Amino acid sequence: MIGGGNAALCAALTAREAGARVLLLEAAPRAWRGGNSAHVRNIRCMHDAPQDVLVEAYPEEEFWQDLLKVTGGLTDETLARIAIRASATCRPWLVRHGARFQPSLTGALHTARTNAFFLGGGKAMLNAYYRSAQRLGVRVRYEAPVERIDVQNRRFVAAWVRDERFVARACVLAAGGFESNREWLREAWGRNQWGEYPGDNFLIRGTRFNTGALLAFMLDIGADRIGDPSQSHMVAIDARAPLYDGGICTRIDCVSLGVVVNRDAERFYDEGEDFWPKRYAIWGRLVAQQRGQIAHSIIDAKAVGRFMPPVFPGVRADTLAGLARELHLDEARLVATVEQFNAACRGGKFDHTVLDDCRTEGIAPSKSHWARPIDTPPFFGYTVRPGVTFTYLGLKTGEDSAVRFGGVPSDNLFVAGEMMAGNVLGMGYAAGVGMTIGTAFGRIAGARAAAAAKGGGTKKELEDVAA
Ligand SMILES: Cc1cc2nc3c(=O)[nH]c(=O)nc-3n(C[C@H](O)[C@H](O)[C@H](O)COP(=O)(O)OP(=O)(O)OC[C@H]3O[C@@H](n4cnc5c(N)ncnc54)[C@H](O)[C@@H]3O)c2cc1C
Repeated sequence: MIGGGNAALCAALTAREAGARVLLLEAAPRAWRGGNSAHVRNIRCMHDAPQDVLVEAYPEEEFWQDLLKVTGGLTDETLARIAIRASATCRPWLVRHGARFQPSLTGALHTARTNAFFLGGGKAMLNAYYRSAQRLGVRVRYEAPVERIDVQNRRFVAAWVRDERFVARACVLAAGGFESNREWLREAWGRNQWGEYPGDNFLIRGTRFNTGALLAFMLDIGADRIGDPSQSHMVAIDARAPLYDGGICTRIDCVSLGVVVNRDAERFYDEGEDFWPKRYAIWGRLVAQQRGQIAHSIIDAKAVGRFMPPVFPGVRADTLAGLARELHLDEARLVATVEQFNAACRGGKFDHTVLDDCRTEGIAPSKSHWARPIDTPPFFGYTVRPGVTFTYLGLKTGEDSAVRFGGVPSDNLFVAGEMMAGNVLGMGYAAGVGMTIGTAFGRIAGARAAAAAKGGGTKKELEDVAA
């Protein structure tokens, strides 16, 4: 297994349970193991009736329609449905390996029905998986970045860590995207109409170890690719966040409760288009498309307590002009923008838990829901930057999770997690889907790799180990 996050651990545990001897090569040192998975909070799961921590029902078709909507159809339905169906049954297996779930947190809006939260977050989940792996006899090498592998006739032969060669009968690639490779981000986003390189202003929400070295190597040797390098999961995060590993607490979640303006103090998108878990992942990209790759999320006192508070307090002022000064925005422009917005708000019954009827009329962009005048001091502003969660460019795969060369699947080289998430996520995102994909295809890849190591494996065996 190459990688040390959720997808690699799901693959390693499955392969080991199927009888394979497993070595896991993780680029990070032990203290930083687990990649982006160490930052997660939840997994999106379908269910036809209430299930442990999940309320009501979230049927396959609704999950699929949600995915179809956020990806704008850029998704492989067969693979998406495999991941969706697996999400209905995976939790007992995850619990067996030490994961614990809790009900949706207050402030994590609208997710009690769709997302199962990991108690202790991704860090606790991964520590449990590593403990389980250790108990089962999976060997782990830290500080072991794999930058190239030997492939002959589409078959994996060996992996290289510096000048050390690891020979194996099968391999699963689960080494994440290329989000922490700043040069690659710069190249992928290119230069904009103002002569800027937007990628230079992105912050990376997760691990510094997902440099995409192995992904680049695989594409160089002719593995089939999927996805656009400029597409990624990207959210608006506090501009004061660290360059790497700021994690969840730097996300700014009050967008749908107020307005967002660019550095010219102009609004640029409908802040209330849909529920936040279905929309939060477009805001990084929207900010990336603004001049200077910067924006400001502005709320008034009415919004306080209605969203997950970020780790750094917002800028606070008793007047809008004062807030503009604190945010280094043109005072008159910001006041005019907010006054125009306020005048366009049509009364309704505010309810942040439904798509309510509080909307604007007569301004562009409109705000479709939760539009209330920003008129109650104190006012708060959060300056945001694009925060890349993970990139979507990856390796093309199929139901078997195998890497393909010229359309032909390898019979012993598999891929899981972010390295293939672009097969399901051509663009857009719905909260918790990263873990749905990584868990489903991690287990499939692990089962296939174990079978390949044993010299094949019957269809029945493969179904049994993946179930
Ligand atoms: C702040 C944050 C919050 C998130 N919250 C959620 C959430 O709540 N729900 C959800 O579904 N998704 C969430 N995600 C997305 C989620 O983290 C990913 O979809 C998922 O963890 C991907 O798992 P993975 O195993 O493919 O990648 P990762 O977990 O990133 O693991 C990749 C691993 O590969 C290792 N590696 C990289 N290069 C090499 C190499 N060359 N050789 C060896 N090892 C290498 C890395 O060190 C790392 O261990 C979040 C991401 C972030 C950053």
